[in-house]
Amino acid sequence: MMPDRCDVVVIGAGAAGMMAAARAGQRGRATVLLDHAPEPGRKILISGGGRCNFTHLDASAERFLSENRHFARSALAGYTPRDFLALVERHRIAWHEKTPGQLFCDNSARDIVAMLQAECDAAGVACHWPVSVSVVTVEHGRGTRFRVVTDRGAMACASVVLATGGLAIPKLGATDFALRTARQFGLGIVETAPALVPLTDANADASLAGVSLSARASIGKIGFADGLVFTHRGLSGPAILQISSYWRQDDIMLDLLPGRDAFAALREARSARPRAQAASVLHGLVPARLAAKLAGELALPDVTAGNLPDRVLRVIAQRLSAFVYRPGGTEGYAKAEVMRGGIDTRDLDQKTLEARNVPGLFCVGEAVDVTGWLGGYNFQWAWASGHAAGMAA
Ligand SMILES: Cc1cc2nc3c(=O)[nH]c(=O)nc-3n(C[C@H](O)[C@H](O)[C@H](O)COP(=O)(O)OP(=O)(O)OC[C@H]3O[C@@H](n4cnc5c(N)ncnc54)[C@H](O)[C@@H]3O)c2cc1C
Repeated sequence: MMPDRCDVVVIGAGAAGMMAAARAGQRGRATVLLDHAPEPGRKILISGGGRCNFTHLDASAERFLSENRHFARSALAGYTPRDFLALVERHRIAWHEKTPGQLFCDNSARDIVAMLQAECDAAGVACHWPVSVSVVTVEHGRGTRFRVVTDRGAMACASVVLATGGLAIPKLGATDFALRTARQFGLGIVETAPALVPLTDANADASLAGVSLSARASIGKIGFADGLVFTHRGLSGPAILQISSYWRQDDIMLDLLPGRDAFAALREARSARPRAQAASVLHGLVPARLAAKLAGELALPDVTAGNLPDRVLRVIAQRLSAFVYRPGGTEGYAKAEVMRGGIDTRDLDQKTLEARNVPGLFCVGEAVDVTGWLGGYNFQWAWASGHAAGMAA
């Protein structure tokens, strides 16, 4: 049975909501945690390929996108990656560092959900799911300010934590509830869009699907060197997912030989196999299927490699290291790892995540206009913002 009144109602039992509920409960607040899904933490369960990349040790504010780049600093400093790691270790969850700073579970993302559930249970949080929340309204009672209306009855409470996440992966239960409720209470919304998402283009060559290589994808000064994968509809891979968060119809510069001088590499290839076909200068520099495609596109002259003039090598080098890629769109929320944009941080207190003009209303996690890079940053924001709100609600 759900109580008809309590101190704090946390709506959304994902990463941020479970953290917020555990913290509020630990402070002795009578806390109720609700979710419309039949189980908590579904995105945690599928994250990091089932092993949950639960944080990144360098979670500085520069690794996050937001209209106010400084907003996240306070919450991130109040609950750091080391704090979360200490919690993970207290629960004896085995973990490893995959790339520098990027931490994953050794066994399963289930360990993280079980840990958060254990924290909530120990703090006396009343967990209820599946519960569908229809609306939050203002209702001043004795010690209460809000009324949360659900399909299992209504609850009066002093604080509401909106932790229903963003719009990515609707088939896992993502909704616009947080955005809608924030708007209803007069908070601003920064335009939302799919982020950490594969890009599409009408000219994608399906015959290249599956070809992968290291590349650098950049827009202006911001760039990411990492894996790139050709898909049936365009491009994916970590370098593309990262740059997708910054993409707004701009051209993307692709360097398929990151960190190398393409012209020098081509000259070396020419001297190594002077009697081979011209296209052989590309072999070994990029995967064979891509090399064949580029050779066709560049219409290399019918000469041996040794007879290719520097002028032609420069053209090939340009194509390899400074290709202007113009995506037509993205794969959308169905394939996005996160949503960018969201509840405007100008309307929130940076220390507590409480709405400036609506005392008692807190907004946390992905619903807020703070979007992390790929690599564990989004969870760190969820833990840190959940912690901040849970300590204040
Ligand atoms: C495939 C995939 C892999 C990812 N891997 C990583 C990773 O390894 N590392 C990383 O840092 N980030 C990763 N992310 C991003 C990360 O999962 C999210 O940023 C994070 O879960 C956001 O936390 P949140 O608590 O704000 O929202 P969520 O975790 O999405 O939780 C929101 C909760 O609210 C519930 N809810 C929604 N609407 C309602 C409603 N109307 N009523 C009641 N409940 C509702 C949902 O059921 C859900 O339980 C990944 C995302 C995806 C999609």
